[in-house]
Amino acid sequence: MNHTCPRCHRALYDRHLKACGYCDTPIPEDRQYAPHQIAELDQTLAELNMQRWQQEVDADRRRNHIVIFADGGSV
Ligand SMILES: [Zn+2]
Repeated sequence: MNHTCPRCHRALYDRHLKACGYCDTPIPEDRQYAPHQIAELDQTLAELNMQRWQQEVDADRRRNHIVIFADGGSV
């Protein structure tokens, strides 16, 4: 499905919009996201955020380990 504005062809960045955020053209229903797609996207986004958070935590842990080794030399 093509989630772009029929007039300016920009991506519909907000899936809840009923009109284009750039040129205010009403979005035909077949270009709007269906409720189940919105649910899927929300799920994907939540998983991505969780992964990103986990990566940051892991990176912090690695940094802290490096600091401990560099400072004290003790394990
Ligand atoms: Zn537009």
